[in-house]
This record gives sequence, structure tokens and C-alpha cells, in this order.
Amino acid sequence: APAKADDLLDGLDPEQRAAAVAPRGPVCVLAGAGTGKTRTITHRIAHLVRSGHVAAGQVLAVTFTARAAGEMRSRLRALGVEGAQARTFHAAALRQLRYFWPRVVGDQQWDLLEGKLRMVGQAANRVGAGTEPEVLRDLAGEIEWAKASLISPEDYPAVASRLQRDIPESPARVAEVYRMYEQLKTAASQLDFDDLLLHTTAALEEHGTVANEFRDRYRCFVVDEYQDVTPLQQRLLDAWVGGRDDLTVVGDANQTIYSFGGASPKPLLEFTRRFPEAAVVRLERDYRSTPQIVDLANRVIGAARGRPAGSRLRLIGQRPDGPAPRFGEYDDEPAEAAAAAARIRELLDSGVPASEIAILYRVNAQSEAYEQALAELGIPYLVRGGQRFFDRREVRQAVIALRQAAASSPEGELADLVRRVLAAVGLTEQPPQGGAAKERWDALLALVELAEELQRTVEGATLRTYVAELEQRASAQHPPTVEGVTLASLHAAKGLEWDAVFLVGLAEGTMPIQHADGDERAVEEERRLFYVGVTRAREHLSLSWALSRHPGGRRNRRRSRFLYGLLPEEHPAARVARPQPKSAAGKAKCRVCGGPLMATMEIKLGRCGSCPSDLDEELLARLKDWRVERARELKVPAYVVFTDATLVAI
Ligand code: ATP
Ligand code: MG
Repeated sequence: APAKADDLLDGLDPEQRAAAVAPRGPVCVLAGAGTGKTRTITHRIAHLVRSGHVAAGQVLAVTFTARAAGEMRSRLRALGVEGAQARTFHAAALRQLRYFWPRVVGDQQWDLLEGKLRMVGQAANRVGAGTEPEVLRDLAGEIEWAKASLISPEDYPAVASRLQRDIPESPARVAEVYRMYEQLKTAASQLDFDDLLLHTTAALEEHGTVANEFRDRYRCFVVDEYQDVTPLQQRLLDAWVGGRDDLTVVGDANQTIYSFGGASPKPLLEFTRRFPEAAVVRLERDYRSTPQIVDLANRVIGAARGRPAGSRLRLIGQRPDGPAPRFGEYDDEPAEAAAAAARIRELLDSGVPASEIAILYRVNAQSEAYEQALAELGIPYLVRGGQRFFDRREVRQAVIALRQAAASSPEGELADLVRRVLAAVGLTEQPPQGGAAKERWDALLALVELAEELQRTVEGATLRTYVAELEQRASAQHPPTVEGVTLASLHAAKGLEWDAVFLVGLAEGTMPIQHADGDERAVEEERRLFYVGVTRAREHLSLSWALSRHPGGRRNRRRSRFLYGLLPEEHPAARVARPQPKSAAGKAKCRVCGGPLMATMEIKLGRCGSCPSDLDEELLARLKDWRVERARELKVPAYVVFTDATLVAI
């Protein structure tokens, strides 16, 4: 750990440093992806602590996903700061509510609601609304939106009509479901996630002693990904800060991806109106991605419509050049997945660790094809946001078995004991061949690895210490890490980064998602989601799509509109006749078929567009069909220029 507060600043550029050392008051960092916002705030916290401005325990940092919070904790630990809190809004509220509850409510017990959809179903049933699974999902989503937007069941019909919400029932009926859901939930003494925030806010707003105690305890507030704050979260934040001004917010309005859930970049963009004395820092150097990826990201977001003032930032790449992004069009989804897996195999063989590779998709259901393709090649993977780690059956069973074993606190080395207990619930010596069994095995192994880590870092750690750690992690949804390729939805990927990123399923209907079509605001949110995806990659970026879902199916899908202007052959420079070297055009011959070479790239490669000699026959045929089709579509001669990146990827 660095010895002096100022040493912490060595790893920051001048603008980042200005944000890190700004005196206590309000600070706002408005900047694009990969510019070091998260790095800046972790360094700011470390600097404030090390220079004695605040104690670590007085810091409360919040972000939006459990993974990002975990990441922030480990970055802080690496900077030598112990005891600063970094949590999601929900985890922070849960903790506070547990603590204040007896004083605010008394001894009435409560549980976290499990099976929300079931309860929405009961409510819908009681008030005579539709109960089909899709309807219930929409109703649950709408109730979440209303709660996050601080709209009560009473106010809901008017607001929903004004905003023309896209809902499966009339506004009045949705309001009835909402009211009934709240009643049933209260009767069962259960709280949903939004209730955690609502009750915590109320406790702080209505109970002076609670608020005073809280304000004695916390003095420094930091919010990452502030562009996605909901009115409810903002209200809680206001209750936390309580009129003081030691608040730091960072965000990127171009990465707002939860507005469907009530989030808005307004508080970020209007921060200075609220705090005129705030220090505002803008960052534009991108430290994460190669210039090739940064260029693509700039083009993606440059095409966005209706960007609010203050969000038009251009990223300037800082890293050395890297490989060109790859584009791949496939006949069907399994082919797309197989190609991604094959490419991942190559990356692994070239030394990229599995944990530095991610496949990102629009909806979780897309993971299946990729799980299969990876399993077939024996590549370890981890699905994020699918099932939560601690909700997995084998993990629950394991935790029960470990708890029982701990209650009897047996002699022996911790990791050994854990391994023995887990053997009884299915941890074999050798990993199974792949697929779901391998995933279960990996989950159990992660529990052993956690025991090994604890044994290394905590002196005299016992099985009991270990079980306590597990329980603490389970309540914070902070799973131990499993080494493997990450499979995650784009929403779950925000704030994170990998050496290699595969953005898959970039076809119309999936990206943008079907129900966004025709709604400009929804399409723009999808575009921002795409931007979030592109900007997760440090070095290798692959973008792919399939023309049909199933092998042999109708090839009736079109590639995503967001790819327009990104594909090499669509790029104006490639499409519009570029100045051809007159002397060589038409004279040079293809090395493979002997035909005339016309385009610059063909001449450079010494082969015509139809004869990429390094591809096998079948691929070649497909490539040719595709090219002819594309050429017709674009109304250009059939020797459309392809860069090598395209050729290899197809
Ligand atoms: P996002 O908008 O995606 O959340 P961000 O702005 O929070 O991005 P960070 O995750 O903080 O960006 O930083 C991106 C990457 O760049 C990280 O790997 C970080 O360590 C690195 N980085 C940031 N600032 C610097 C710097 N001054 N020098 C070197 N590397 C840096
Ligand atoms: Mg960040």
C-alpha cells in the first residue's frame, strides 16, 4: 500500500487528479466510458482517507451492480483503504434498514419477498387482470417502474395516461394490481427491493434520532454510474446527505440504460444547477480501449439522436494500436456461437486468460447457444445474472451442509474440511465433461477456493469463520469468483471491462430488441446499450449476428441498424469510389483465379474479392453468395472491398 496520500495521485492524469483532490464540497465528473471515472473516485476516497479528511468508516460509496460494488471494494483494498463501504443502493439500504428497523417499526418481523411474480400473479387474479406469464412480467415491471419513480397506486392512472405507458391492461386496472400487490405483500410481512429503499428513506426523513445517528456515522458520499439514478434512489441519497454537500457523483449520460426502469441522467446533467459551487471535471482520454475500439465507440454514439446538452463528449484513445474489430455474419445462431467459441479457443491458446473474455448479449435467454458451444470445446464459463450464485441449488445445499459441519467446529485444515464436506454434496475429484454438470462443479470449487483464500488471509480461520463469511457474502450477493469466460447481458456488463469482448446477436429484433422498434426513445436506449457493450473491450472486439435462429431456418433476419456505418464495406471510404491507382486497376491479376483486380484492397492483397485463398471451400462459397447479395443490396459492383478483418471473421 502506498505510504503517503500524494503517492496515490501518481496514477492519475491532471483532470482526474483535480477531481481526486478537490476539497470536500460537491464534485461532479462527467465523462465517457473508459476515461477513468471509477478509478478517479476510488483514488479520491483513498486520498481523502489517507490525508485525514475523513475516516474510512465514514465513507459510503454506492453503485448499481453487486459486481461493480465488489470491484470497487477490491480497488479500495488495493489502495490500502479498509472499512470504507462500497455497496449497491439496495445492499446499503438493506443493511441500514436491518439496523434501524426495531426503532422505527418495533418488533414486527419481515422477510425479503421471494417469488415476486407469484405475488403479482395473485394480485392480478384478485382484481381480474390478465395472468399470462408475459402479462405478469409486464405488470411486475410496471410496478417496479412506478415505485422507482415515486408514483403511488393513487397517482398511477393519471401519470400512466399522460406518459402513454406501454402496458398490458388499462392504467386503472394496473393501478388496482399495484395496490393489491402492496396489500398482499404487507399482509405477508414481506418487503420487495424497492421497499428497502422506501422504508430506509422514510426512516431517515421521519425519525430525527435515526437521521442524526446516521449523519454522525457517514460524512462522505460517492455515487458511481450516476446517470442511472431513479427518483427513488435520488430521494434516498438526499436523505443520506441530509443537506450537507460532501457528495461526489460520476457518470456518463451516454450510458443511461435503465430509463425503462425509471432512471434518468437529469440529476447528473443538472448537478451544477443544484450545487452551483460544485467542482466539475470532464475527462475525455480513454485509457481502456485501443484507438480502433474508441473510434468505433465514437461512431456508435455519434449516430445517437436527441443527446442532451452536456453529453456530447468525444473519446480520445490513449492506448497503442490494436487489432481491428471483427465483424461476422452467420447463417444461424449455433454457427455464430460456434465461431465465437472457436475464436475464444484461439485467444486462450494465445495466452488471454478466460477471466479476461466476455460474451455479451441483449437478453439472458441468448446465453444457451453460447453455453453449449463453449462446453463443446471444453472452455470454462460463468453465466452472470442468470441464476444468482447463492441461489443455485448445489450452493444452497453446500451452505446447509457446511453450516451443520461447523455446528459440530471439527479439527483440521479449513480448506480440507470444506473439501470433505462438499464431497458429500457432489464435488468430485475430477471435473465432469462440461455443460450443466461442469457448471455445478465449478460453483462448488469456487467455495473451496474461497476457503483457501480465507485460510491464507485470516490467521486461525475456522469452519465457523468461513460459514460466517459465506453468509455475509450471500446477503450482499457477492459471489466468490470462478475462473471462466463471462457470459452476461449488456445491462449486467456496465462499468466492467475485459481484454476481449464478443457482442453477439446484433440482429434486428434482438438489438434493438423487438419491442423498442418504432419508439425512438426506446431505440436510442438500445443504442446506448450497444455503446456500453462496445466500450467494455480493451483489446479485442468482435461483433456478430445471424440471419436465422435455427440451422436450416429461414434467413429472414437483418443485421442491426446500429451496425450501419461501422462495417468496413459500408464505410463511405470503402463504398464511394475511392481514388484508384489508375495504373494498377484492371491490370493486376488475381493470384488465385487470374481475374482482373479492380479495388485498392484487392490489388494490395493480390487476389480478387471472390478468392480469399486462405479460407476453405465451404466458407468460400458462403462468403461469395453473401457478398453478391450484399453487393446487390448496396448497388455496387460485385467486387465490394473487404478488409482482412471481415474475411477472417466470417
Ligand atoms: P465506465 O464508464 O465504463 O464505467 P470509467 O470511466 O469508470 O468507465 P475506469 O473503469 O475507471 O473507467 O477506467 C478504465 C480503465 O482505464 C481501467 O482499466 C483503469 O485502470 C484505466 N485507467 C484510468 N485512468 C488511467 C490513467 N490515468 N492511467 C492509466 N490507466 C488508467
Ligand atoms: Mg466506471
